[in-house]
Amino acid sequence: MSAGAQPGSAFVAANEPDFPERGSAPADQGGSASPTVVRVALDVPLPTLFDYLLCAPAEHSPPSLLGRRVRVPFGRGSRIGLIFQVAAHSPVPADRLKAVLEVFADEPTLDHDVLELLQFATRYYHHPIGGVVFTALPQRLREVRARDTQRARALRLTAAGRERGAAGMSARATLQRRLLEVLGAASYVPVETLAGLGGSARRVLRDWMHQGWIEICADETPQGESLDERVAQAPAVLTNAQAFAVNAVMGAGDTFTPFLLRGVTGSGKTEVYLHLVAACLKARRQALVLVPEIGLTPQLLQRFQARFPATQLIVLHSDLSEGERLSRWRAAQRGQAGVVIGTRLSVFTPLPALGLIVVDEEHDASYKQQEGLRYSARDLALFRAKMRRVPILLGSATPSLESYGNALSGRYRLLELPERADAHMPRIDCVDTRRMRMPQGLSPILISAIRTRLERGEQSLVFVNRRGFAPALLCSACGWTCQCTRCSARLVLHLQAQQLRCHYCGHVQPVTRDCPDCGNQDLVPAGHGTQRVEQALLEALPDARVLRVDRDSTRGRAAFAAMHERIRAHEVDVLVGTQMLAKGHDFPRLTLVGVINADSSLYSSDFRAAERLYAQLTQVAGRAGRADIKGEVLIQTQFPEHPLYAAVCRQDYHAFAREALQERRDMRFPPFVHQALLRAEAPRREAVDAYLQRVAASGSALDFPVEIYDPVAPAIARVAGRERAHLLVQADSRAQLQRFLDAWVPQLAERNVRWSLDVDPLEF
Ligand code: ADP
Ligand code: ZN
Ligand code: ZN
Repeated sequence: MSAGAQPGSAFVAANEPDFPERGSAPADQGGSASPTVVRVALDVPLPTLFDYLLCAPAEHSPPSLLGRRVRVPFGRGSRIGLIFQVAAHSPVPADRLKAVLEVFADEPTLDHDVLELLQFATRYYHHPIGGVVFTALPQRLREVRARDTQRARALRLTAAGRERGAAGMSARATLQRRLLEVLGAASYVPVETLAGLGGSARRVLRDWMHQGWIEICADETPQGESLDERVAQAPAVLTNAQAFAVNAVMGAGDTFTPFLLRGVTGSGKTEVYLHLVAACLKARRQALVLVPEIGLTPQLLQRFQARFPATQLIVLHSDLSEGERLSRWRAAQRGQAGVVIGTRLSVFTPLPALGLIVVDEEHDASYKQQEGLRYSARDLALFRAKMRRVPILLGSATPSLESYGNALSGRYRLLELPERADAHMPRIDCVDTRRMRMPQGLSPILISAIRTRLERGEQSLVFVNRRGFAPALLCSACGWTCQCTRCSARLVLHLQAQQLRCHYCGHVQPVTRDCPDCGNQDLVPAGHGTQRVEQALLEALPDARVLRVDRDSTRGRAAFAAMHERIRAHEVDVLVGTQMLAKGHDFPRLTLVGVINADSSLYSSDFRAAERLYAQLTQVAGRAGRADIKGEVLIQTQFPEHPLYAAVCRQDYHAFAREALQERRDMRFPPFVHQALLRAEAPRREAVDAYLQRVAASGSALDFPVEIYDPVAPAIARVAGRERAHLLVQADSRAQLQRFLDAWVPQLAERNVRWSLDVDPLEF
């Protein structure tokens, strides 16, 4: 980061002497008003806004400039920026200020609360404002040559557009009348058709879009005439616990009240969301529903669609085309979308009529972005709810200890759904494998339980936390293991593809036949991945139809949906899968879950490992026996007496969480302290160490009440040829940590190492 750049200071083109002066003539010279200074966020890695002059005509009064996109000169070219502040003067001399090249006046400005959210994220995560803005905006809005309407495939009239009709339209506006007529006659019309009606059709359409009279047809929106005739699926009659939760949240009215909905899997949390969203829509407000991963929750989407067929429901996730993303984002921004369901990025979606935020599976680590702006969507959602004074509901069967701690201390209101809505809780037992011979990793007890299900026509799931065939290839004579040359990690054997793969850098090589150290030709696979368990099942149960579900077998949403269908159609008897299968699925015939290899997380050095394992086991156990048949869960373990397994078997989240929180308090771990992690990497180890030592020393010299730990390397220290290490900073309060970071971050700049700061890190 540039040491000289101060917030609010201008980018002065001192190092670009050839910048053409002509280019800096303002685009908007129509007005006679005196020039305004606008402070603009640009997608550059500098922690500052950039000042430009705007010779604005009167229609751009300052409030309408905030949140507007502009094109400005930068370096030798031009860039897209977003206006964050408007000022009368700049600290930069007027003759060195450049002028805005273009104001995108025909599109809506970014809402005030989103601007505030972005500024908060910048301050809290100590990330350059430009980086934050351009993380949050759809890609199309970051490009110089981008316009919404041109990429839209089809348009239709909105309710507002229909209502307005041709009334008030001048008789001479023939193009407008014609467009309206064509749009009014069909449920939607291709853009090309409309553009063909007249030379300035696109301009008119853009204007109407801005007014909210027409909208882009997003493909997941129920379309056309059937819209209002679709029959909404009737809501369930709520159980007492559900009704209590719904009333509590509705009673919060227009206040910021965080609720934590703790409900066992299948207890009807989603039903609570649906009721609250219905109330929100009835009040003509918008609901934002955050989910960890869309691809893994097709049933949740279907339920929302079935319940609100006449509402425009927008789905936002990472594998949308950029055109789709923008059109959906705009539908939310114009208030047309009643419900937005999306992954973490959708926390930034502009929602002018926001009335409710739901964060489903709030404990899920995928709410935290692990690169660039390392934000927690759950935490930003809380900030947003607070700013907008709307209720927020965090739901989970196994809340994060952070959220549970907040519920115990009274900062959140705890709501409980203690029982399954329409099924029994499964029975969970440990299978003691200490004295068993299990060459293929499957105990005879588990095999026979699966066989019983097979005979009864029920389904089983075997949960394995690793993909591939075996996590290592080992020499039985000298102990050599096959390592990645670019990472300090073992290569994973993928037998079907006949490959060794590195799961860290993606390196692939053919399977080694003999040991390079001793020449031994007997290399043995060590440990069990999904492929090996699949093979073992096929051998043990030749009649069973086995399906493996992991990232290798299932790429993309379509593949996942297809597989989902096969399972529901009972074309599968036994599923073998990673945590991909653990989340939010409802397979009515699935009555047995077996868990393999969970022990490896019991004695991890990561203080969150136990919390994660508890959540994962509870989640996967939740797949068993959802309908009329009681489910059974068998956890294979060498440590059947471990207190964590005991709590899982008793299904006593409260006991587990209270004890774990007590331990965190004693050991001074979050949420009782607050952490930031500085990560660094470089090709050479010495460079990383020297850097971390330097910034650790400069941090100590600042003399704040924080603890700065010695730099350490993570378990996998080298990835793709780069050495990694990190430095942990810890404070008793968030405010203390933030004050320290404010002073420290400007000193972190360094040329030779790549570094990043992670506030509230989840992974070490
Ligand atoms: P969760 O989100 O907690 O996993 P769901 O909302 O998916 O729970 O509910 C689990 C099952 O129970 C679903 O099949 C759902 O339709 C059903 N269900 C939920 N609430 C009720 C209710 N009040 N009456 C009857 N069935 C319900
Ligand atoms: Zn050897
Ligand atoms: Zn590698």
